[in-house]
Amino acid sequence: MDYDTAAAATIWANGRPVYDRGENVCVIGAGASGLVAVKNLREHGFGVDCFERETGVGGAWNWRHDRSPVYGSTHLISSKPFTQFPDFPMPDAWPDYPHHSQVLAYLERYADHFDLRQHIWLGTEVVHVEPAPDGHWDVTTRGARGGAERTQRYAALVVANGHNWAPKQPTYEGLGEFRGTVIHSSAYKDAAQLRGKRVLVVGAGNSGCDIAVEAAQQAVRCWHSVRRGYWYAPKYAFGRPVDQVNDSMLALRLPLRVRQWISHRTLKLTVGDVTRFGLPKPDHKIYESHPIANSQLVYYLGHGAITPVPDVARFHRNSVELTDGASVEPDLVILATGYLPRFEFLPPDVLGADVDEQGTGRPKLYQHLFSRRYPTFAIAGLLQPDSGLFTLVHWQTVAFARWLRLRDRAPAAAHAFWGKVSAGSDRGWTDAKVTDSTRHWYEISHTKYLRGLQKTLDELEQA
Ligand SMILES: Cc1cc2nc3c(=O)[nH]c(=O)nc-3n(C[C@H](O)[C@H](O)[C@H](O)COP(=O)(O)OP(=O)(O)OC[C@H]3O[C@@H](n4cnc5c(N)ncnc54)[C@H](O)[C@@H]3O)c2cc1C
Repeated sequence: MDYDTAAAATIWANGRPVYDRGENVCVIGAGASGLVAVKNLREHGFGVDCFERETGVGGAWNWRHDRSPVYGSTHLISSKPFTQFPDFPMPDAWPDYPHHSQVLAYLERYADHFDLRQHIWLGTEVVHVEPAPDGHWDVTTRGARGGAERTQRYAALVVANGHNWAPKQPTYEGLGEFRGTVIHSSAYKDAAQLRGKRVLVVGAGNSGCDIAVEAAQQAVRCWHSVRRGYWYAPKYAFGRPVDQVNDSMLALRLPLRVRQWISHRTLKLTVGDVTRFGLPKPDHKIYESHPIANSQLVYYLGHGAITPVPDVARFHRNSVELTDGASVEPDLVILATGYLPRFEFLPPDVLGADVDEQGTGRPKLYQHLFSRRYPTFAIAGLLQPDSGLFTLVHWQTVAFARWLRLRDRAPAAAHAFWGKVSAGSDRGWTDAKVTDSTRHWYEISHTKYLRGLQKTLDELEQA
């Protein structure tokens, strides 16, 4: 059956029309995850409507979008072969770590190559989603610039709304009285914002380290506030992108301890002892949390262009007090404190107990993908991998498409699989001994996760 031709009958629910899209699947978001979901669902025979609130595809990588977190100098952190979709390689001529504009061009080409645009409704925001009878979903949309709402009913739902656009903004005592400028890293776009300023960068994630490096070159002073000790890996080791070196060790199935020993030796020989630069000693073994991939941070620390400082204790009118009692006097504070996933269009009980009324929190999922409560609901791309994301979401969305097909064709086998999904237990997908902070909620080790997903794919295919 070609689901696209299913009649759009009108049903009345709660006194308003609901246009029935039959067996079509709704995908929310046309970033990398939404695009690959549309493609894989189409390839499995499903009709798809994808809604994207921005006016272009590409999600976070589309720097024209207001909410895009990329800044002028953003390059991939994961190298090309570990970022690209498995069935759509990036051009050979591109560098190991393409610029954000190349990543956007890649996603646009992907959309064109697989003819996805005809299924995407741009400038259309999903404002509300409600479970409907028979496992269906009522999806209410509105023009991103306003206008009338419209509700359509779908047989299944894939949420691919991304988790790098809602700033995680810490609160500090005295912040209100501080006379300098305070911005979240999401508002940092260009190195010109730093020129001639005294800058305090808070946070040692990848963005925080990138911005500190830019401040080292552009600002008159750069302090980098780091809460705990991390491992700083260069982007290259043994002449190869570092994720490729790491992956070779994983492919050899070297035990974690052996990989830790090799990487520890390598970092000792290349980066050396980071405490020499005033950074705190890592409080965990390497791979117990994802290392920061940045070749330049240590270089600028070594040149005295970045001064590491501890956590922020509180703000004063003209200064920022640190937890060691010292103070700094920045004109500009950049909070590179990360992002939180937000699902404000979904009732919290659909996602699970951890999600609050604002739609912020950790949904309860199986394999970071399948809803445990609704068989026709998945979230794609809600991962923080030690590698590129696109391959992982490719296989996630193949798994969900296979699952929907299985429900259609082999209900008994589907029942058995669903028993496992809904049971409530899921193994950890990371080698890391992570703390229960939002930064680590979605952390996965890509080989471990892919092996788990492969089992699911086989199960769904053979059944
Ligand atoms: C600085 C930085 C560097 C990064 N580097 C890498 C890297 O090297 N490798 C890597 O793999 N990943 C990297 N990432 C992660 C990056 O987020 C992913 O690569 C990828 O963009 C995630 O795609 P997504 O589709 O899941 O989410 P997004 O790209 O955020 O796309 C989500 C889309 O959903 C849309 N949307 C949201 N809500 C609604 C709604 N209610 N209605 C309609 N549309 C909606 C948004 O407008 C958006 O277009 C980086 C992120 C940042 C911030």
